[in-house]
Amino acid sequence: MAGVIRRLDEAVVNRIAAGEVIQRPANAIKEMIENCLDAKSTSIQVVVKEGGLKLIQVQDNGCGIRKEDLDIVCERFTTSKLQKFEDLASISTYGFRGEALASISHVAHVTVTTKTADAKCAYRATYSDGKIKAPPKPCAGNQGTQITVEDLFYNVNTRRKALKNPNEEYAKILEVVSRYAIHNSGISFSVKKQGDTVSDVRTLSNASTVDNIRSIFGNAVSRELIEVGCEDASLAFKMKGYITNANYSVKKCIFLLFINHRLVESAALRKAIETVYAAYLPKSTHPFLYLSLEIAPQNVDVNVHPTKHEVHFLHEDSILDRVQQHVESKLLGSNSSRMYFTQTLLPGADCSSSEVVKASANSSAVTKGTSERVYAHQMVRTDSREQKLDAFLQPVNNPLSTGPTELTTEVTAGPPEAVVRPQDAEMEDVSDVVEMADVQEDTAKPGGLSESGHLSPETEPPRKRPREDADIEMEKDDTRKDMTAACTPRRRIINLTSVLTLQEEISNQAHANLQEMLRDHSFVGCVSPQWALAQYQTKLYLLNTTKLSQELFYQILIYDFANFGVLRLSEPAPLYELSMLALEDPESGWTEEDGPKEGLAEYIVEFLQKKTEMLKDYFSLEIDENEDSDSGSTTWKWTVEHVLYKAFRTYLLPPKHFAEDGNILQLANLPDLYKVFERC
Ligand code: ADP
Ligand code: MG
Repeated sequence: MAGVIRRLDEAVVNRIAAGEVIQRPANAIKEMIENCLDAKSTSIQVVVKEGGLKLIQVQDNGCGIRKEDLDIVCERFTTSKLQKFEDLASISTYGFRGEALASISHVAHVTVTTKTADAKCAYRATYSDGKIKAPPKPCAGNQGTQITVEDLFYNVNTRRKALKNPNEEYAKILEVVSRYAIHNSGISFSVKKQGDTVSDVRTLSNASTVDNIRSIFGNAVSRELIEVGCEDASLAFKMKGYITNANYSVKKCIFLLFINHRLVESAALRKAIETVYAAYLPKSTHPFLYLSLEIAPQNVDVNVHPTKHEVHFLHEDSILDRVQQHVESKLLGSNSSRMYFTQTLLPGADCSSSEVVKASANSSAVTKGTSERVYAHQMVRTDSREQKLDAFLQPVNNPLSTGPTELTTEVTAGPPEAVVRPQDAEMEDVSDVVEMADVQEDTAKPGGLSESGHLSPETEPPRKRPREDADIEMEKDDTRKDMTAACTPRRRIINLTSVLTLQEEISNQAHANLQEMLRDHSFVGCVSPQWALAQYQTKLYLLNTTKLSQELFYQILIYDFANFGVLRLSEPAPLYELSMLALEDPESGWTEEDGPKEGLAEYIVEFLQKKTEMLKDYFSLEIDENEDSDSGSTTWKWTVEHVLYKAFRTYLLPPKHFAEDGNILQLANLPDLYKVFERC
């Protein structure tokens, strides 16, 4: 029953051979991109339809193809890059076998539109089975080449059926193009679906390798990168790239490997490097690696398989050893610096939400959604919007007995009507007059300082004697038409340069990440009257309550200048004792030459009483003769949590120095803790 052996039809042979080279749209695109790079393009744009199965269009601005070469460009073994066999040894361009375009034309309809620098116009030709279908037609076009591949595998049923999922093909295409984009910084790449206005991968020609990694794989990867590089003349190889440090790990290894600028795979190299990482990363997690190896061309066997993916090279084991050693040394180095980093870690650069939030639209497509997953060690289990019940149960004790710091600060606390969110006062508004119109509706909401309930705020119904000078005006009536307007007194608008300058200073000094942290923190608890713990996302912070409240009240003072409501203390503040306290403080700068403190304190009291009218006008501080002292109590914790930290959320613009002077310190970060435990 032996079958009859027949010679296959040539077209069928070609089609089978083509299928070996081009197995899916991404292979075709890789070949086409390599051609663009060989042609010295600086801009490469890919458009696809149905995952490349319906249409692939690759446009470049390279050298173009001469009109006289268009006839044979799609024939097998036609290439402008290789003439004799020996050339194979020193080949430095991507393509060399003249096989790609020929193969594509055997399984798809190919159209080439191209213009060289010295041609008067562009030419267009279409191809089928390696042959040009008609003489090239002159047409309009910019310098460079556009190759269109339509209906891929239209004549290969089995292949077409195997590639049923356009989304999968598209993901593969994004993967290939983005890898070439990272490897070829200085050249701009873009990929989009036909009809879309936005590209799914897009890099700019002035972006660095790290920029490109960031825009494709996200910040979570890019900020943990270590630059690597080594070479060995005796092994005739050079290596450089970027790898993630031990802070980063992902379920599936991301390995971008280029050998002699060709995207390849090397299972041996991957394994060698992963062995090194195993000691640093949590179990069954992996790094991100981008490595570019240059190996003497004569030592590389790229001829292993038509798809040219898996690569082998001479001295493979020795080269792997060298790379392994280098990676190990770099990781070790970064590991010790990481320890140092964690010790002094401040929320500065690091408390943005990028770690937990998915990195970027692009990365999800490229890494197939892995970055969207939130693992246990990244999971944020608190919600800053949650309120504890005790927030509504106000302690009955007098809060003014909380010690000197709180005492002085609370005296200046404004009632809610008076509190302004500094961040709402936008720059435009600050320029001339501080228009606080937007602010007031916020302040009418519950959540102002006075919620403490201790400082029974009495906002004066319309101020009796507004000072109608140029520096302080009444807010115009028509700025206030809503409900809140009816029940809040009108604000005075401050034009005093000194106050405006101070406001500007505060907003210029503001630290955006710290502000975000304060706004969305979950209060953990008080360590002492001075220190408190708060959680933000996966991180635990230690905050200097004293310093933060000093800053808060200073800011309230500046932003609410001349707009304070009246705070009538149930127990008037003891001016004499306060003055004494202030003089005890070394910051007061008191020396013996100034005379006895008692005398000075009396003078201060007198002085303040003389200035009663001004203090009342600017700061709503009413001073009378009564002096009394208060009793001790233990409600400070409630005040810290529900008054101060609540106010920090909304009203404090934390100055940058808080991130550096230890007033806000990061103590722990959940992902790091996981790493520690997993290694135990
Ligand atoms: P190879 O790249 O191995 O030479 P290909 O089949 O990929 O083979 O390409 C055949 C020839 O077509 C190339 O040698 C080159 O001269 C020309 N060519 C293909 N694409 C481009 C392009 N984008 N710009 C300029 N020339 C191109
Ligand atoms: Mg090629």
